[in-house]
Amino acid sequence: MFAMVLHEIGSPLAYEELPDPTPGPGELRVRVEACGVCRTDLHVVDGELPNPMLPIVPGHEIVGRIDALGAGVEALSIGLRVGIPWLGHACGTCAYCEDGRENLCDRPLFTGYTRNGGYATHAVADARFAFPLDDEGPAAPIAPLLCAGLIGWRSLGFAGDAKILGLYGFGAAAHIVAQAARKQGRTVFAFTRPGDAEAQAFALRLGAAWAGGSDEKPPEPLDAAIIYAPIGPLVPAALANIRKGGVVVCAGIHMSDIPSFPYSLLWEERRIVSVANLTRQDGLDFLGFAAHAGLETSITTYPLERANEALADLRAGRLQGAAVLIPPDVRS
Ligand SMILES: [Zn+2]
Ligand SMILES: [Zn+2]
Repeated sequence: MFAMVLHEIGSPLAYEELPDPTPGPGELRVRVEACGVCRTDLHVVDGELPNPMLPIVPGHEIVGRIDALGAGVEALSIGLRVGIPWLGHACGTCAYCEDGRENLCDRPLFTGYTRNGGYATHAVADARFAFPLDDEGPAAPIAPLLCAGLIGWRSLGFAGDAKILGLYGFGAAAHIVAQAARKQGRTVFAFTRPGDAEAQAFALRLGAAWAGGSDEKPPEPLDAAIIYAPIGPLVPAALANIRKGGVVVCAGIHMSDIPSFPYSLLWEERRIVSVANLTRQDGLDFLGFAAHAGLETSITTYPLERANEALADLRAGRLQGAAVLIPPDVRS
């Protein structure tokens, strides 16, 4: 197989030919059709997440077709299209797993971080953590649903029954969540980098009722805010815009330090909460919702071997929506 490999934190990924991986008991192998580029991949490459497996093939928004099955996998068959998400494995026996919170498992494996991911022509996954996907249509537009959509969905759940929802950072996750929130009858206000007229126009096209810079006041106070940008100062900024009893949801896996702020911003039962990973139930719930809600993803595709360029474009804020890598065997 061919893969983009991270050997050392901070170095560019290298395009390499590797032996085809063999699925072990309980595992499956896919020919990758498409793999989305998530901000978490940037955090892995940039060394902002502790103890990645190195060398590692990043990528956890994998759409592929099963081309080999390990022993004991009976529920899935060769040729089936599946999605492989960030949660690659949970132990099933720790207190969190037993409690239905496998997203907080004590002994998890994460795709593209502590087990190899989908920046490749082939990928192996724990079959129990792969989601069967719709067989029809191109794979690339589905890929961003597997993390941006899925973790976005989980973060939307933490917003409770908020009617007026603020989204900070209008990238891959927010552009999907905005559509889902609209389908649920919520009003969406989008906060972008100050002065980013293009991102604000993009948000308005996707149904946001208002779009402005993260330094601006929304037209009405928010019931809840979800922060997708990895920028700590957005936490007090969002707190200042939510009403009494409202919640600020931090949806990223990494954020720069949150500056100190006056207690009055938190007073009156405002809350700050983080969202970590996903459960398989989140995936089933979201993919079921997405199939009926007609969510559309806005994507920019790159050949697999240009993954470094996709990461650079994401880092620089040059993308509208999500980047998706397409392996060579799918293109030819
Ligand atoms: Zn566990
Ligand atoms: Zn992700």
